[in-house]
Amino acid sequence: MEFLDVPTLLQISAAFNVIAALAWLVLASTFRIAPRASWLMVASHLVRVPPLTCGDCLAHAPTALRLALPELLLMSSVVLLLFALRRMVASRVRARHIGWISVLGATGILAGVAAGSVRTPQLANMLSMGVLAALAVREIWRGVGDRLSRSITVCTTLPFAALAVLSLVQASLLLFMPGWTERLLTQPQPGPARAIAGLVVTVGITLSLLALMIWRLVMRIQHLTHRDPLTGALNRRAFELALAEAQASLTRGRGFALVMIDIDHFKRINDEHGHAAGDAALLHCVTLWQGALRALDRLGRLGGEEFCVLLPLDSPGDLAAAASVAERLRSQLAATPLRWRDADLPLTASFGVALPVVGDATGEIAVVRADAELYRAKAEGRNRVCVATHLGGASS
Ligand code: GH3
Ligand code: MG
Ligand code: MG
Repeated sequence: MEFLDVPTLLQISAAFNVIAALAWLVLASTFRIAPRASWLMVASHLVRVPPLTCGDCLAHAPTALRLALPELLLMSSVVLLLFALRRMVASRVRARHIGWISVLGATGILAGVAAGSVRTPQLANMLSMGVLAALAVREIWRGVGDRLSRSITVCTTLPFAALAVLSLVQASLLLFMPGWTERLLTQPQPGPARAIAGLVVTVGITLSLLALMIWRLVMRIQHLTHRDPLTGALNRRAFELALAEAQASLTRGRGFALVMIDIDHFKRINDEHGHAAGDAALLHCVTLWQGALRALDRLGRLGGEEFCVLLPLDSPGDLAAAASVAERLRSQLAATPLRWRDADLPLTASFGVALPVVGDATGEIAVVRADAELYRAKAEGRNRVCVATHLGGASS
């Protein structure tokens, strides 16, 4: 293992950071994939290079500065990393925490330098890096925890958790191990264990962020292929897939109902107020209905101004529950006109509700039944809910 002495490890680490920075640069500038996050990653990798390559550059600088400057760069690298991570997981947690922890860390480092202390800058850096890395774990958990499998989420957070633990262990050694600070003074470079741990954590964090980036891309592609671009509702294909899945689980005792919806006299909105008003009306309806449905209900736009809701039922065959959801959607729309250019445009829709039949793989029978009820609602005067009884008869 002689070839893997500490200077070689630091050079490998520096080379890895340069290559990773170039890779993020290509992603940001050529492929324009998550460009802002990628630029932050370029900066995060680059600020790590000087402390790794320039061991003797500060040989004649005051000791505290020699120890503080690399730490300051290391901390900036983690801060940049955290901001990149926030962009990748589209975090809604405020950036304020990152701000005050970094300011506190930097103040500790600079105050230590000013006081000529060797220990304080290192301690401030290790503590703030530990907290920032723990914050990264929280960001990942909150950002992707409910959308990725538990094992993948754990793997992605692992390098950040390792960085948090290593930083806090280093802080404890500085605080409680007599002689540790002296070691820092006499040994300008980290020990082999710290150099290896640093390299492994850097590689792990880079792989983690790449995995998050790929996940983000997959989510975006899924969104583009599954969603209607105007309203964000499921498109016809995605809705049909959801319906086939729901049909398959019917035999396992999981019931559902279909609610077919058609906006009333929609053509008039286009004709009287223009196509843009029609588009706004479609978005208005979907926003309203999504707000009134549960997360597990699926709203799809089947085409034009026709929608369908797939409602999983707590008790299979509970038509009354499905009818009351449809009635809620109907009454909310009727009570909430579209605000369009300083005027209120009243909107209503007609609804047809039906239950599925076992053995109908695609759910076509339920669709046809719900559609028939929808047309009955239209024929009976619109702005109403009609319900198909399970055996094919109808009631309203
Ligand atoms: P009914 O009450 O019988 O359903 O009447 P309607 O006017 O709602 O139905 P009709 O089928 O006559 O008209 C639907 C209109 O929806 C015609 C079409 O131009 C319009 N449309 C379809 N897709 C879009 C869209 O994406 N945006 C807009 N603005 N209009 C659309
Ligand atoms: Mg219509
Ligand atoms: Mg129609």
